[in-house]
Amino acid sequence: MNSEISISIKDSPISEILEKCLENKSISKDDALCLLESKDIISILKLSSLLKTRFKKDVITYSRKIFINITNLCRDFCSYCTYRKNPFESSTVMMKPTEIIKLAKIGKKFHCTEALIVAGERPEDRYKEAREWLGQFGYNSLVEYVVDISEKIVKDTGLLPHSNLGNITRDEMKLLKTYNVSLGLMLESSSERLSEKGMPHEFASSKKPSNRIEVVKNAGRMKIPLTTGLLIGIGQTEDEIINDLFLLKTINMEFNNIQEIILQNFQPKINTRMKDFPSPTNDYFLKIVSIARIIMPEMNIQIPPNLSPTSYSSFIDAGINDWGGISPITIDHVNPEFQWPNIKKLQYITELMHQRLRARLPVYPEFIDKHDFISPQLRNYVENFIGFDRLVKEGYLDEFR
Ligand code: SF4
Repeated sequence: MNSEISISIKDSPISEILEKCLENKSISKDDALCLLESKDIISILKLSSLLKTRFKKDVITYSRKIFINITNLCRDFCSYCTYRKNPFESSTVMMKPTEIIKLAKIGKKFHCTEALIVAGERPEDRYKEAREWLGQFGYNSLVEYVVDISEKIVKDTGLLPHSNLGNITRDEMKLLKTYNVSLGLMLESSSERLSEKGMPHEFASSKKPSNRIEVVKNAGRMKIPLTTGLLIGIGQTEDEIINDLFLLKTINMEFNNIQEIILQNFQPKINTRMKDFPSPTNDYFLKIVSIARIIMPEMNIQIPPNLSPTSYSSFIDAGINDWGGISPITIDHVNPEFQWPNIKKLQYITELMHQRLRARLPVYPEFIDKHDFISPQLRNYVENFIGFDRLVKEGYLDEFR
């Protein structure tokens, strides 16, 4: 046992729990809640940092991406969202295939490896404008469009699609899997309370926890590497956050397909119903990230650095091992007011914390050689980018950092 940690733990009121973790024993929900309520943040951070090193060595990854904002029309209304637009707004986006391929080709020139495809939830269910947009290219649904455009992105550029389309069916997942190396769906929260009157998901049927949990499980049944996560600070109780972490752990123990958990801190946006709702404090968010590492020591845990622009290096101490997707050429269309950090600066800060920054694909190394998780159609495109450690070959990005 690391002696510095051992000394600090002995003096801590939560020493019994911390010692259990050091011995690689699982903790209970009550233990985790006790950690979240504890004031001894230093001991908790020391432990999560040690667990990160134990299971993830000294590497922090990121995925070099282009952000394809295929449409920001959405059938739902979450009270914190400024991404969704109505058809009559000037900032509404409905991308044509030619625009998407043009952007992907620029991404290729900048040595991106990920084509992140993001859209609102089934816009065609609400808006005739969305149906007309899809119809002109011969599609009845957004998913049909993304299935075909994913194939074209791969064949024209070699970039690897990762789509976030909200609640999709098993049949839709099967079609997307052929040309998507992974899919994304934020659980956000499994609290039914958040769908009640006056709560953030009151007008967002797609955020109904039981539906969303089923999508996460279906991805497991379909052997699809899935990125999911929690949106921290939208009104959940501490108990609910701990429950969500254990829920993701349990699902992953059953299906073994959650490739990473994003912990995203809520940021209030002007012109939303939650504009005056405070974001979580840095210390509280740090503790949640630490506890996530403690509950799931082997999981890939990510925080988006652009949402904590002044403090993101502190999350290395909390045990993260990934900075998520970062784009050298496109903005974060969901949080356009928060710029991605410059990749060189991110590397500098990561190295200051005695970690090595490495680029990964939108599929994590541990899923690349796992039977049936990558479609045969994608195999060669994946192998093109990676070295023996299944991360992006270092030479591929040298001149582009
Ligand atoms: S489902 Fe997504 S895009 Fe639609 S309103 Fe909610 S957060 Fe915004």
